[in-house]
Amino acid sequence: MADINIQENVPLAGYSTFRCGGPAKYFAEPATGDEVARLFRLAGEKNWDVFVLGNGSNCLISDKGFDGLVIRIGKNMSDLTHEELEDGRVKITAGAGLPFARFGNYCVELSLTGAEFACGIPGSCGGAVFMNAGAYGGEAKDFITSVTYWDGESVKKIDGSLCGFGYRTSLFERLAAEGKDAVILEFEAVLPKGNKDEIMALVDELRAKRTASQPLDVPSAGSTFKRPEGYFAAKLIEEAGLKGFALDDSGAQVSPKHAGFVVNNGGRASAADVLRLIDYVTQKVFEKSGVKLEKEVRLVGDFGG
Ligand SMILES: Cc1cc2nc3c(=O)[nH]c(=O)nc-3n(C[C@H](O)[C@H](O)[C@H](O)COP(=O)(O)OP(=O)(O)OC[C@H]3O[C@@H](n4cnc5c(N)ncnc54)[C@H](O)[C@@H]3O)c2cc1C
Repeated sequence: MADINIQENVPLAGYSTFRCGGPAKYFAEPATGDEVARLFRLAGEKNWDVFVLGNGSNCLISDKGFDGLVIRIGKNMSDLTHEELEDGRVKITAGAGLPFARFGNYCVELSLTGAEFACGIPGSCGGAVFMNAGAYGGEAKDFITSVTYWDGESVKKIDGSLCGFGYRTSLFERLAAEGKDAVILEFEAVLPKGNKDEIMALVDELRAKRTASQPLDVPSAGSTFKRPEGYFAAKLIEEAGLKGFALDDSGAQVSPKHAGFVVNNGGRASAADVLRLIDYVTQKVFEKSGVKLEKEVRLVGDFGG
């Protein structure tokens, strides 16, 4: 594996928008599906656990870090191309490591409509597929027509309709939950042309809404909890009297700006501090409303049961 750089003991806090968490024992940023396959093969031989990381904007990484190999799908897999289709629409191919917001901005540059919401989401294109990222009525599934992924044996390309997209879930999320290997390598999206001024105005409007309502200047992983059916997590948290709440002065706090976000003020809190607050909020909301909040944020590494 001479040509894939595998680093040891790499601090992960800088690879997570929560800005906390310990190191990866091994860390690599592959450039191709073949390299992904080779890394998994090596991990199998060495008996290393593997975690696939995108932009770390939906992960809380344990203070102990990850005792195995973190495969980061980032800048080395961030190709972006487009092709005009005969029907006037445009097909975009985006590498999984490309920032999803860059994909959104590319659509704006090409006067394509439907991906305006993507401009405000801080994840990677792979993470957006995995989570079926969405905002303000739009979701990744609206325009993704195919996904290329490594399925543990070979690289496959499947139609968007087979990706099992649902609310913040996908086939890939379910495969990961079953402990199966699946690494998203790229997606294709088809979007229609629109009016550039209107597209730019919508992007500005969504950005303004986001800036006004979300604590974008404080480390977090966005919405901490999934939207429970029939409710809004932030409203339930507010009704439990927890908006702005902190258990201690660790830095972990329910955002005073948006109760759905647990934030890490100054990046001072440990992952354990953040998780303790998340668990407390879950418990208090359940006591108050009977609704069991489910984490949207994904826990990475050992949190001690
Ligand atoms: C300020 C802020 C605002 C946010 N707003 C929104 C929003 O409006 N809507 C929304 O949906 N989300 C939002 N998020 C959450 C987050 O940006 C999305 O969930 C995003 O899709 C996660 O992508 P990522 O690359 O950061 O994934 P990561 O956090 O790196 O990983 C998330 C999961 O995806 C898996 N994964 C990532 N890449 C791959 C890959 N290539 N192959 C296989 N598995 C992979 C990981 O294993 C992990 O389980 C926000 C986050 C922040 C910090």
